[in-house]
Amino acid sequence: MTTTYGHLTWENVRDADKDRVVILNVSATEDHGPHMPLDTDTVLGMAVANGVAAAAPDAVFVMPPIPYGFNEHHKDFPGVIWIQPETLIAFVCDITKSLAHHGFRRILLLNSHGSNHPVLDLAARKTVIDTGIICVSASYWNLMSARINDIRASAIGGIAHAGEFEAAMYMHLHPDRVDLSRATAQNIHDPNSKFFNLDLAGKGGGAMLMRWWSAVSPDGTMGDPTVATPENGKRFLDAAIEETTALIHEIRALPILSRVDHH
Ligand SMILES: [Zn+2]
Repeated sequence: MTTTYGHLTWENVRDADKDRVVILNVSATEDHGPHMPLDTDTVLGMAVANGVAAAAPDAVFVMPPIPYGFNEHHKDFPGVIWIQPETLIAFVCDITKSLAHHGFRRILLLNSHGSNHPVLDLAARKTVIDTGIICVSASYWNLMSARINDIRASAIGGIAHAGEFEAAMYMHLHPDRVDLSRATAQNIHDPNSKFFNLDLAGKGGGAMLMRWWSAVSPDGTMGDPTVATPENGKRFLDAAIEETTALIHEIRALPILSRVDHH
């Protein structure tokens, strides 16, 4: 049976193993510096999702992605399409509730755009409350922080947005769409800060401030894409697929628990 949700017939869905994990990638359409396209987060998120499907074809279905996200703070850059967080939560929950209606019990909201992280966390929690099924949210870089640090060439702060990590993976997948000759390094990480860390391998640090993107980056880049290579892009992507596949196997094995009303 195909792992591509959109290629299933309704009879396939009726007869499907409902303990397969349904993966829904949520990304963004936004500036990624002068060197990368608006669709970067969707291309990378779906490369991870489809890589997981190839690695574990009996364990997942992959939904069509949501290519828009919570990113109004990027709108000073032409091309950005932003969705209000309330709208995005409601939209994602309509999808998860539809899946639950059809009998699916395990969903992974696979995030590939930083500021979707808290939105998808809330959507997953709401899905559990509203349906009783298992709904997990994860930003794929958080599943592989240690491995990012093993592979990277840049210092901390070099991997945030359109930096080494994303540029390397996009170069590996579609070298014709990345123009590193136009890339500049914009490392705004303060090594003296105890609490702030926007590096993707830093798990966000202990405190969060998301400023207007145009106030902190002159060209939309945050990080150092100039050291990106397609070879390291393959290593980043392979690690992302392996760690996300391991998460899928954990989700598939989780027990379905029942509520107990103690009133
Ligand atoms: Zn991105």
